[in-house]
Amino acid sequence: MRLVFPALALTLGLATSAAGQGAVPIQSTPLDPANLDRSVSACTDFYQFANGGWAKTHPVPPAFSIWGSFAELTENNQSNVLTILRNSAASANPQASADLRKLATYYTSCMDSAGAEKEGAQPIAPELGRVAAIRNRAQLESEIARLHSMGLPSVFGFGAQQDAKNSTSVIAGVRQGGLSLPDRDYYLNPEKRYSDIRANYTDHVARTFQLIGESASDAGTDAQRVLAIETALARPAKTRVEMRDPNANYHKMTTAELAQLAPGFNWPTYFAGVGRADITTINVQNPAFLKAVDSLMTSVPVNDWKAYLRWKIVDAAAPSLSSAFVNEDFRFGSTLSGTKEQLPRDKRCGRATDAGLRDALGQAYVAQYFTPTAKQRALEMVRNLESVFHDRLQTLGWMSDTTKAQAETKLAAFTNKIGYPDKWRDYSSLTIKPGQFLNNQLAVREYERRRELARIGQPVDRAEWGMTPPTVNAYYNPSMNEIVFPAGIMQPPFFDPKADDAVNYGGMGAVIGHEMTHGFDDQGAQFDAQGNLRNWWSASDLEKFKRGTGLVASQFDSYTVLDSVHVNGKLTLGENLADLGGLSVSYAALEKTLAAKGRPPLIDGFTPEQRFFLAWAQIWRQNINPEAQRVRINTDPHSPGQWRTNGPVSNLPQFAAAFGCKPGDPMVRPDSVRPVIW
Ligand SMILES: [Zn+2]
Repeated sequence: MRLVFPALALTLGLATSAAGQGAVPIQSTPLDPANLDRSVSACTDFYQFANGGWAKTHPVPPAFSIWGSFAELTENNQSNVLTILRNSAASANPQASADLRKLATYYTSCMDSAGAEKEGAQPIAPELGRVAAIRNRAQLESEIARLHSMGLPSVFGFGAQQDAKNSTSVIAGVRQGGLSLPDRDYYLNPEKRYSDIRANYTDHVARTFQLIGESASDAGTDAQRVLAIETALARPAKTRVEMRDPNANYHKMTTAELAQLAPGFNWPTYFAGVGRADITTINVQNPAFLKAVDSLMTSVPVNDWKAYLRWKIVDAAAPSLSSAFVNEDFRFGSTLSGTKEQLPRDKRCGRATDAGLRDALGQAYVAQYFTPTAKQRALEMVRNLESVFHDRLQTLGWMSDTTKAQAETKLAAFTNKIGYPDKWRDYSSLTIKPGQFLNNQLAVREYERRRELARIGQPVDRAEWGMTPPTVNAYYNPSMNEIVFPAGIMQPPFFDPKADDAVNYGGMGAVIGHEMTHGFDDQGAQFDAQGNLRNWWSASDLEKFKRGTGLVASQFDSYTVLDSVHVNGKLTLGENLADLGGLSVSYAALEKTLAAKGRPPLIDGFTPEQRFFLAWAQIWRQNINPEAQRVRINTDPHSPGQWRTNGPVSNLPQFAAAFGCKPGDPMVRPDSVRPVIW
C-alpha cells in the first residue's frame, strides 16, 4: 500500500524503497578517508573521488533496490521504531496510553503470519463481493465512491487541497489517476523495454486473479481488460514534466461546471458516496483526463470495469494478505526494482506501522530518540541559513530592487517546522482490534480519509505535517510557504553534533538551503509569501531567471546513466536548482562561521572548504540496481546521486578554488554556460 503525499510538496531525497538486513549502526566517523577513491582526481569526477571507496565495499543488500546515506539512516531509524513497537507489544497493559496500546495491537496483528496464511483472500472477500454484485453503471459509480471513501485509489484521485490561488482555504480537488504501473509511459511507449514490462505486468495481474479463485482463462481475459482500461486512462494523463506547471493544474470550478465538463458521471451521487454531498467548488487538475473518464464510463462495458475494480482492491491489499499474494506482489515488483529478497516481516510491519499510525508512533519516537538540544541546534542552523540567504538576496546582481523586495518578503514569511508536529493527531475515534491485519489497515485508511475530507471547506490547518518524524527526508510546501525537517534526518551523516562545522554545513546546512531554495525554484518562485499562486516578478527579472534555469535544464539533459538513458533536465529542474542554491547559501554560511570562529586545522589533510564538499558528496553516495535506476529516471524529480554531486559543484567557482581545479577540467563548467541564480 502506498502513501499519497501532498501533490506539491517538494522533497529532498530519494524515497528509500524498502528493506534490509540487520540494524546498521550510524557511521561514527564524520568523513571516513576509506570512502575516497584517490586514483581519480577531484577535478575530473568528484563523486568518484569522494565515494569510490565506499561504492566498492557497499553493494546493494539483497532486500534493497538502492543503498546509500538515506537508506542506511532509514534502516537505523526503523530499527529504533521496531524497538518501540516490540516494547509496547510486550508491555501492552491497561496502564499504557491508549495510543501505545493501539500501536502494539496494530504491530502484533501485522506480525501474525499464521493468521494471514489461514485467511488467504478472505479479508478482501466482502469488497470483492460488492464488486461482483454491480449490475449497471450507477452501481459502478457508487462503488468507485465507496472505494474512494475507504482511501483505496481507482480511476481518478479525489481529495482535499489548498486552493492554489487562495491559500487560506481548503477545497476539493480531482486529479488524474487510476494507473498501477509507475507512469503513463509504461502503458504507451512502444519500445521493447516497455512492452516487455507490460507483458510481465499482464501476467502478474492474471496470476493474482487466479489467487482469488478465477480460472486461468478468465484471469487472462480479465488481465487484458485491466491493461486496456489503464492504457485508456494513461493516454489523456499529463506527463510528469507537464504537471510541473502549477497554473496548468488549476481549473477551479463549481460543481455545476464540473457536471458540464463530465456530464455522464453522476457527481451528486459520488459526492454523497464519499460523505461530502455539500461540496460546491472543486479544482480539476486535468480537465481532458476527466472528459476521457466520462466517455470511458460509457464505452467500456461494466464487466470490464468490474475486473479493473477487483484488481485495484487486490493490488492494494496484496502486501497484507497471505504469502501467496505477498510473494506474487514482490515477484512483479522486483522486475521493476531488481530487489532480490523480501524485507523480513518485522521490518515490513515496522514500516507499515510508521505509515499507518504516524503520529502515535512519531510521538513515542521523538520522546525516545530526539532531544530538545537537537531541535535547538537545527533551529539555529535554519536561522543562520535564512540570514545568509537574506544577505545574498541583497547583493544579487541580476535582479531589480522591486523583485528583490518581493523575494525578501517571501523569505521573511517562511515557516520552519523542525522534528515533529506541535499538535498530534487525536486517534480516539480509531478502533484497532486484535486479529486480521487488513481490517486494521483499512480502519487507519478510513480514519485518515475522514480526516482529510473533513478539511474541505475549512480554513487551512497550518500544523499539518506531510512526513512522519522518523523519516529521513525534508520538504518545502509552496502553498504553506514552509520548510519541514523531520527528526529522522537530523543525525549523521547529515548532522552530527560531534563533527566539524564544515561537515555539518556540507550536509544538513546544504539540506536546509535546498529546501529554502525550493521556495525560489521554477515552481516555488510562482508562489508568493502567503503561498498563493501569483506572479510577483517583473517581466525582465523573470526572463533573466528563466535564462538561468534553462542553463541548469540543459546541463542535466546532457548527463547519462546506465548505457544511454538521459537525466530529464526539465523533470529534475526544481531539485537541481534547489541543490545549486542550497550548496551556494550553505557554503556562504560556512565562510561566515569560519570568519567568526577562526580557521580550524586540516583534518585528514583536508581544508574546511574541501570537507564541506566531501560531506555533500557523502550524502548522495549510492549504489542502485539498474532496474530501479530506470524507473527513477522516468519518475523521480531528483537526479541520481552522481549528478546531484557533480552537477552543482561544477557550477561553483568555490569548489574549483577549494580543490585547485583549472579551466578545462571536467568539474569546471565554462562561465558561458554556468548559471548564477541564487
Ligand atoms: Zn528537493
